[in-house]
Amino acid sequence: MDNIQVNIADIKEEIKKICHHCGRNHEDITLIAVTKTIDPERINDAVDCGIADLGENKVQEIMDKYDAVSKNIKWHLIGHLQTNKVKYIIDKVGLIHSVDSIKLAEEISKRAEKNNITKDVLVQINVAEEETKFGIGLEEAVDFVKSISGFGSIRIKGLMTIAPYMEDPEGVRPVFRQLKEKFDELAQMNLPNTDMKYLSMGMSNDYQIAIEEGANMIRIGTAIFGKRNYNK
Ligand SMILES: *Cc1c(COP(=O)(O)O)cnc(C)c1O
Repeated sequence: MDNIQVNIADIKEEIKKICHHCGRNHEDITLIAVTKTIDPERINDAVDCGIADLGENKVQEIMDKYDAVSKNIKWHLIGHLQTNKVKYIIDKVGLIHSVDSIKLAEEISKRAEKNNITKDVLVQINVAEEETKFGIGLEEAVDFVKSISGFGSIRIKGLMTIAPYMEDPEGVRPVFRQLKEKFDELAQMNLPNTDMKYLSMGMSNDYQIAIEEGANMIRIGTAIFGKRNYNK
């Protein structure tokens, strides 16, 4: 299973080290293996190494891999979700990280209700206001959460961000810090259908900093599976 086993062990060790260093419990950190472009066989290798959470950014990839991947895992949708595709994944994913419009939240709630479930979601925040990225602005976050908290069949479980890529990840620390502040602010508001539990931030390049700043879900692809090949 090439280096997957070693890579996962290294990352878990690193998580422990960072948590020890900043006085956190490493068991509070969920490691999501990001499996875009990775085939089911290697995904199952990762599951055999103890991975219990898998992240995909495309609906189609979850659909394609769903049956071939172990059922003892929780799928996370971490990429932009089009309203018309909600129906395909509503019964497949445990957590949707990328709620970025009222229309989308409404559709998820509607589909969840039809399935007699409530769906856990995170609100995606575009902290750095990058034009190329989806997400709600930091200043709009409170109003946005308030406006979707009335939908009865979703539970707002926290916030997610994709930080800008920087050569030196130290540069994204303020992004993570600002999101943690907003997360704490929302947690104190006790809004309906809202339980601020997950702060999803940090990827291969910057997860150490994200954990130091309060992340409890990190999304790691390259550091587990190696560099992605998009033209298979
Ligand atoms: C691809 C992706 C990741 C993982 O990125 P790596 O740098 O490979 O760890 C994390 N989050 C999202 C939303 C992604 O699309």
